[in-house]
Amino acid sequence: MFLWESIAFGPIHSRRLGSSLGINISPTDVKICSFDCIYCECGWTLEKDITSTHYATADIVAQAIEKKLQSCQAEGTHIDSITFSGNGESTLHPQFGEIIDNLLILRDKYYPNAIITCLSNATKLQDVKVRKALLKIENPMLKLDAGLPELYKLINRPTIPVTMKDTVEGMRAFNGNFVMQSMFLKGEIDGVKFDNTAEENVAAWLKVLEEVKPRKVVLYSLDRETPAKQLVKVHQPELEKIAERVKKIGIEAQVFE
Ligand code: SF4
Repeated sequence: MFLWESIAFGPIHSRRLGSSLGINISPTDVKICSFDCIYCECGWTLEKDITSTHYATADIVAQAIEKKLQSCQAEGTHIDSITFSGNGESTLHPQFGEIIDNLLILRDKYYPNAIITCLSNATKLQDVKVRKALLKIENPMLKLDAGLPELYKLINRPTIPVTMKDTVEGMRAFNGNFVMQSMFLKGEIDGVKFDNTAEENVAAWLKVLEEVKPRKVVLYSLDRETPAKQLVKVHQPELEKIAERVKKIGIEAQVFE
């Protein structure tokens, strides 16, 4: 299990985002997420209490980010994206909106050309405050790994009462101002064989895309060690075939192997 030990880290080189300064607003000693994805690089979601009191306050987060931006600036470090990722789901932070507002000010002060990205599992989109905060940044990247509700449950294993329907409805409210990130994989979990590249799922997923119209879709597969052990990576040619179908419905698509 891998956990980031600080609020601001990097920048690291990201295949998708270039020079990416990471922001972790989840606790540094435990993963807090509303999903328990079978492929999560942070390991299983052992702490199911998402109201954990280990969260750093918005003020502490802003101080840590400012310090990091100052030192990057002093060293002449280039930053393409300031990216919320880290030990779980950032939108669960009780002061997520405030943190975004503070970051917008700091970004404009120190790195006005950097974009702000938030990698989110899209489970809090029904919360209008979270949605408004995500709409203030340039690059909300919202996860949807399935087109069928049973696969959504099997792959992402929500730990809060959220359904695929809630997620899709939330995405629709973005009016296309978001990037969708979709993980493709196959294998077996708890004795159940699955494959989200199967036609039934891909066709249903494409239908959702037509409905929510993201400005871009990013397709990828396994890259690091996973908590579930019987998972199989989907390779680039297969991802490209799915990406071609996305492009055919008029949506930009990019594959990362
Ligand atoms: S949403 Fe992200 S952090 Fe949460 S379990 Fe899935 S991969 Fe891990």
